[in-house]
Amino acid sequence: MKKVVILGSTGSIGKSSLQVIKQFPEKFKVLGLAAKSSISQLIEQIEEFSPEYVAVCDKRACEQMRKKIKSVKILCGVEGILEIARLQEADIVLSAIVGAAGLLPTYEAVKAGKVIALANKESLVMAGQLIKNEAKKSRAKIIPVDSEHSAVFQCINSCNSSYIKKIWLTASGGPFWRKKPHEIEDVTPEEALNHPKWKMGKRITIDSATLMNKGFEVIEAHFLFDIPVEKIGVLIHPQSIVHCLVEFIDGTYLSQMSVPDMKAPIALALSIPERLPDIVEPIQWSGVQLNFELPDTGLFPCLKLAYEAANAGGSMPAVLNAADEVAVEAFLSGKLKFKEIYTVIKKIMDAHKSFSPDSIEDIIEADRWARKKAMEEIEKK
Ligand code: MG
Repeated sequence: MKKVVILGSTGSIGKSSLQVIKQFPEKFKVLGLAAKSSISQLIEQIEEFSPEYVAVCDKRACEQMRKKIKSVKILCGVEGILEIARLQEADIVLSAIVGAAGLLPTYEAVKAGKVIALANKESLVMAGQLIKNEAKKSRAKIIPVDSEHSAVFQCINSCNSSYIKKIWLTASGGPFWRKKPHEIEDVTPEEALNHPKWKMGKRITIDSATLMNKGFEVIEAHFLFDIPVEKIGVLIHPQSIVHCLVEFIDGTYLSQMSVPDMKAPIALALSIPERLPDIVEPIQWSGVQLNFELPDTGLFPCLKLAYEAANAGGSMPAVLNAADEVAVEAFLSGKLKFKEIYTVIKKIMDAHKSFSPDSIEDIIEADRWARKKAMEEIEKK
């Protein structure tokens, strides 16, 4: 039986992973759960899965939790989350905290040499090289949970990388695909949150509407698979059935397909090398049409920014992520227009002199700088 730690258990990925675990009680045991502040959901999860360890990041929520739950030790704050991330008894740590907040816990699990099911793409976007170096030292293993990366992982399956010509990550195109740039300048958060295919958290849904999410995934793939950025392409595929295409030097391709449901990559990451039965519905193939087209960077300029950040390397991807997190937050709270998400990020990137980070503290410093700059920029609007 595998002992599983879930960092970010009350988020969308965390909840889906608990559904998978519930389906296979003979295979998995929840060892630890960590959440930011949604304590009522967390209490339900504790009652259902009886973890041995629980951590709550928000200190006030954590104190409340301690008053309500006496049966399990509750750890507070970032330190508490880090403690859960490095638990010796854990067989697998699912890193599913949203955004930059997932960096330190992921890094901690890597340092502890864990098997990490990685759903937090920001940690690789921000600190890909440092995480890779550390994983080499500690022999930590990273298994991607992001659906496209899980797909690539399955298709390249220890294939010699010199045989890979290009990796194509697919994108649904989000709610604004095939619109004209001027038509989406002023869309509301409600319109941008109306994702046609995937049900996800708010931040990633907005990042999918701007295609920044796909840009992050390009950077993530670059570090996960040791593939140069210029060999990673993006294809709009509105049906979200094909999750990647791996193009080989002989002109042939492998792809991985399923209905769009995150339970598929989550289950695989938890169960590998096994495959579990009946995780998602089979595709009803009759009448299915699969379409692909290259993205229009005039409509999705954030995708271009991500490639620029990837090419600049060093601290720039961390700055890209931080500025995006702040800009998306401002958009969701009505302080920024949709098109200004791009302009704010671009301004912050232009103002940043990329440097080569020596430590995770350097990354956090770049993140802090970019957040402050982005907030100042938004205040001016
Ligand atoms: Mg994805």
